[in-house]
Amino acid sequence: AKQEKMGDIVFFNERMGREAMEQFQLSQALRNAIPGHELIVYLQSQHDIHGQVVGAEALLRWQHPKLGMVSPADFIPLAEAEGTISELDRWVLEQVMAITRAHQKNLGLIRLAVNISPSHFARDDFVSHIMSGLRKHRIGGHHLVLELTENLMIQEITTVVSKLRALAGLGIEVSIDDFGTGYSSLSYLQQLPIQELKIDRSFTQAISCPQTGHPIVSMIHNMAAALDLRTVVEGVETAEQLSYLKHYPNTVIQGYYFSKPLPADQWVEDNLNPQNL
Ligand code: C2E
Ligand code: CA
Ligand code: CA
Ligand code: CA
Repeated sequence: AKQEKMGDIVFFNERMGREAMEQFQLSQALRNAIPGHELIVYLQSQHDIHGQVVGAEALLRWQHPKLGMVSPADFIPLAEAEGTISELDRWVLEQVMAITRAHQKNLGLIRLAVNISPSHFARDDFVSHIMSGLRKHRIGGHHLVLELTENLMIQEITTVVSKLRALAGLGIEVSIDDFGTGYSSLSYLQQLPIQELKIDRSFTQAISCPQTGHPIVSMIHNMAAALDLRTVVEGVETAEQLSYLKHYPNTVIQGYYFSKPLPADQWVEDNLNPQNL
């Protein structure tokens, strides 16, 4: 029995070692993603209840020459742990600003949303970096939405509020992403100058019946209405889910039912090319 136990320990250590090695190799590989031109921005349309495109969210993709397509669900947490997430976020921001600059005339009221990691938002130079990006591309902030998660509360509220005010001053809107999955008090939320709540896909998937819907989805919509915030419903895949959401005619819909994420070039071609409009 003792030997077996020892065997277990050895096996455990080897497995741990292998996983640590894989993580290590993945993080080494990730360092080369920007210089090696392995990253691609995808855009997923956001629609009004009738299907009209009102915006799009930028989603990062990593195409590694050997590993193939690595999911952001795998490499974003790694970059967060390694402290390199700001570089990735900033690379996406740069691409989105360049798209905005190039297609300003055809964007109309369309806004492009970019995900911002909490540790990136927490940086002292967060706002100034965005300002210099807008200056560099000679664009205003009115085509940009920043998606922050409830974890932005890792910072002191006065700092958070002053950063959000500065963004609002630039015309940039702020959305609270994955809303309902994190930990935020209503009183806190009420103090934040934000424009949008994004309802997490886990709640949308739980909408089974077009009549009764889902209590959390309706609760968040009511709350958003009370706070005068727009809602975006993430991960809408079925006609039943859409049908229930017609109870909230002003909500924005994002999900495979209307459209999947597309490489940014293709999204621009489909949505901003005057020949196709
Ligand atoms: P998220 O911000 O909640 O983004 C929505 C995710 O849901 C995306 O996954 C999108 O492809 C997926 N999705 C959209 N509609 C549907 C649907 O109808 N059904 C299903 N099953 N999925 C749908 P993706 O692209 O794999 O991204 C995963 C997460 O990685 C994102 O979740 C976000 O937290 C993070 N992420 C992606 N790009 C960036 C980035 O540039 N910066 C940061 N900090 N995080 C990013
Ligand atoms: Ca998001
Ligand atoms: Ca998210
Ligand atoms: Ca989500």
